[in-house]
Parts: sequence; structure tokens; C-alpha cells
Amino acid sequence: MTKHIFVTGGVVSSLGKGITAASIAMLLRQRGYSVSMQKMDPYINVDPGTMSPFQHGEVYVTEDGAETDLDLGHYERFGGVTCTKASNFTTGRIYSNVIKREREGGYLGKTVQVIPHITNEIKCAISMLSGADVDITITEIGGTAGDIESLPFLEAIRQYRQEIGRDNALFIHLTLVPYIKAAGEMKTKPSQQSVAILRGIGITPDILICRCEQSMDDEHLEKLSLFCNVEKEHVIAEQDVKNSIYEVPVELAKQNLDKYILEHFKLPVNILDMSEWNGMLENAITPRNGTVKIGVIGKYISLRDAYKSIYEALSHAGIANSVKVSVKMIESESIEEKSEAAFLSDVDAILVPGGFGSRGVQGKIKAIKYARENKIPFFGICLGMQCAVIEFARNVCGMNGAHSAEFSTTTEYPVIDLMEDQKLVTAKGGTMRLGSYPCILGEDTFSRKAYDAQEISERHRHRYELNTKFLNTLANNGLVIAGTSPDKKLVEIVELRDHPWFVACQYHPEFKSTPLKAHPLFKDFITAAMKKRDEKQ
Ligand code: GLN
Repeated sequence: MTKHIFVTGGVVSSLGKGITAASIAMLLRQRGYSVSMQKMDPYINVDPGTMSPFQHGEVYVTEDGAETDLDLGHYERFGGVTCTKASNFTTGRIYSNVIKREREGGYLGKTVQVIPHITNEIKCAISMLSGADVDITITEIGGTAGDIESLPFLEAIRQYRQEIGRDNALFIHLTLVPYIKAAGEMKTKPSQQSVAILRGIGITPDILICRCEQSMDDEHLEKLSLFCNVEKEHVIAEQDVKNSIYEVPVELAKQNLDKYILEHFKLPVNILDMSEWNGMLENAITPRNGTVKIGVIGKYISLRDAYKSIYEALSHAGIANSVKVSVKMIESESIEEKSEAAFLSDVDAILVPGGFGSRGVQGKIKAIKYARENKIPFFGICLGMQCAVIEFARNVCGMNGAHSAEFSTTTEYPVIDLMEDQKLVTAKGGTMRLGSYPCILGEDTFSRKAYDAQEISERHRHRYELNTKFLNTLANNGLVIAGTSPDKKLVEIVELRDHPWFVACQYHPEFKSTPLKAHPLFKDFITAAMKKRDEKQ
């Protein structure tokens, strides 16, 4: 029978529940258990796909094409789990399922209510990830104890535990233990109150994980144990890590968190082998090959979470090359007003990530022109690839005013156009080309060299594509079509020759990169950046 861990949060949001949950998954997997993970988000949107990155950070895309919370990125990167459509539920999704069933007559005669109908639907979502091949499922409840919106989820996990038995379910509560500088003291009261809120709804945490800036001493642990009714050794301090988020599982393991979890479930505590992970950390913390500076040009630069997987993938590629990657985040609009050299002359490589809407597009195009002309390694992703095609059409092929149909309906050269099967789509939620699709790589290309394979599969999230009407002109002028869909109808990768490294792909490689296995394109991009750096010196 699958065991269930429920992770809740208290006091404030942004404590890193996702990273903590993913670290637990990583440790349990290292101990030989199969783990699945999911997140419950209490907001009303059916999924985060329709939200601005400014609201919610990046939208993470799974293999099977779900648009999900960015915490799922941590689950896959740290935990090594594969997320699916069943890995992220929101209040909106739960309610829409229930309302749809009600309209179909599924509850005929009954009054449909939060309890039991909504809570049953949540319990059904939780059970979707368990099964014969899963030893442990981790369910993270988004939001903070005390939020009105979280209540049905908390009630559902309380019932779930009741039904499967105490030994088969475990509650972990993550709270904040703030340090009050003026008083020179750490305060446990907010955590006590947060646990009191949970107890008020029938949930007593088995393990308390306390996020803190300073180390906690015995007195605090004892106090929390006493007032929160949690055994002292089950009060775990999760202090801010110094260098890398990938240190979190190591710190949690030092305090035996994974051991306590397995003991609770009465499962054998197998040996924990962290040698590969520790080797990776060594490269992350003390790289041998200095630093490279990568310019990332985007329109959501002010919010770090908006490009979470991009920054993570860059850091993985740094680990693989044993080099520190310093990211220079450049607001694309700011390049529009000034000379691009003012922003880009000090970077070793340039990356333009995905995006939507016309704001900042001219700045991205200017940055790509600079990379092409000055032979600076360039990596374009999704909108970044589309901008590279626009730049090439305008400045190499002489197609004045070439643009994407997303930004101009009057251009003579719509080199990027809406995909055929998108033309009749009007609804916005979940209607893009989403998830994994195969791609065939051309011989003698940067991509083929990086992947060392002929066929690959990558995740997508887009509505527009390279307009094949212009393919011959673009190719005749030197644009290399380095990857296409197997039927050759969709262009997946374009490259340039006579350039140290210029690769732009329609898909999102960043979603598949992990600290132990950097994505091949990111890895080669950073290698090219190192070469550029060394040439400059
Ligand atoms: N807006 C572009 C499209 O829909 C690019 C999307 C993206 O970068 N994810 O095709």
C-alpha cells in the first residue's frame, strides 16, 4: 500500500515548501523507494497556464502537457520524479470536475457541498498518484495554514489519513522561526500559533520543519516540541543554505529527517548513498574553471521566479562544466532605448528565453543581432527562437519589417505564424501545443553534436511556428534548419554556421535539465561561453 506524506506550510508563504518536499523525495529515492509527487494549489484558476509570470512565476510544463506550478520543476530536478497531469490540482480544477459531474446528473437528488463532494474530489486526486509501483506519495498543500481557500484541502487530508490509518500517512508542517534582530532573539510563537490552527482542524503534525536564518539551539527545539506536541527529534531546523539550494537535502539528511519518515511508516531504513549528489555539490560550490557571464534578455526579469527553470538549467550546465555561471539579467525594453553594446559587451554568451506579447520584443531582436554579428554564443528558446528568425529575415534576408503574426497583422513577411491547428482556437486555457513531441536532428549541427542522437523528444508550449512559406529564402541565405518534427512540417531548431555556437529551439529544453544531468544544449552553450571568455582574455 502506498504511504502518503502531506506537506503543509505555516506563518508565511515562500518558505520553500516545494524545495523541502522535493528534497524529501530525493532522500527517500536514494534510500531505494519509488516516490510520486503532487501539489494542491488553492487558487481558482484551473491551472496557472493563463496567469502572468509576474503573478505566479514560471509555468512549468510536464511531459504529458500539463501547465503547472513551478514547484513541479523542483520535484523533477531534485526528486527525480516524473510529474504528470495528476501532479497539480487547483481549487478551480477540483470545482470544475465536481460542477461538470453535477451537470451530467452525477449527483442526482443530492445537494452538492464542500463536504463531502469537494473533499471527496480532492481525495480522489490524492489517490491518483498511488499504486502498486509507488511506495510513497508526497502531496504538498499550497498556501498557508489559516487561509480560507486552503481549508477544503486540509479537511481532505485529515479525512484521508483517517481512512488509510495513522501508520500510512504522515503530516509535515513547514513554518518560519524568525530572528528579531533588535531583540537578538529567535521567536517560536508564530510556529506555535500555526500548529494551533492546524490542530483546530484536526491535524497534528508528526514532523515540524522550521525555516530559520540562524541556527536553532536546544532550548528552541524543546519549546517547539512541548508547545506543538511534536517529539523533540522530529523538530527539524532548515536553516538558509549558504551556496546552493541543492545543499538542502544534505542538511535535512544530517538531521535524519528521512530516517524518521521511514520509521513512522515502519519501512526499512536502507543505506543512504549521497556520493553522486555530493560530487555534484562540490562542482556547484567550488568550480574549477572560474566564472562565465551569461546575459539573459527577457521581459519578466524583475521577478526571478519567472525564468526559474532557465536559471536552474544554466546552473546545471555550470556544474557539468565545473564553472560558476553568473547571470546578467537584462530587461529587454531597456536595450531598445540604448546601444546594445552598453548591456552586452561584458557577457560571454547571450540567452533569450520564451515569452508572450510584444513588449520588449525589439530589444530581444537587437540583442540577437549583436550576438550574430559579434559571434557571441547565442541560445534562443521558444520566443527567443522566433525572434532569431525575425532578426535573420530582416537583417540578413532583407525582408524589411519581417515579424511574427503574434505582434503584427500587417507585415509583408510573417516569418512566424500561427500554427495551422491553432487557427480556430479561441479559448486560452490549456489550448497551446503542449508537452513532449519528437524532433529529428540534422547531421553536422550543434544540436546533433550536443545530444549525440538523431531523434530527441522535448516539451513545448507555444501557438506560433516558423512559417514554412519563407523556409527556402531563409535557408538559401544561410539559416540552418537543424531540427524538425518527424513529418518535417514544423521547424524545431534553427542554427547558424560560421558562428561559434548559435542555436535556437522552438521547445523548452530547460524543463528537462537536472543537477545530476545537465541538458546537453545548455551544457554546450556554457562550454561555448567559456571558450569565448578565454578568447577575450
Ligand atoms: N508567444 C510565442 C508562441 O506562442 C512563444 C511562446 C513561448 O515562448 N513559450 O508561440
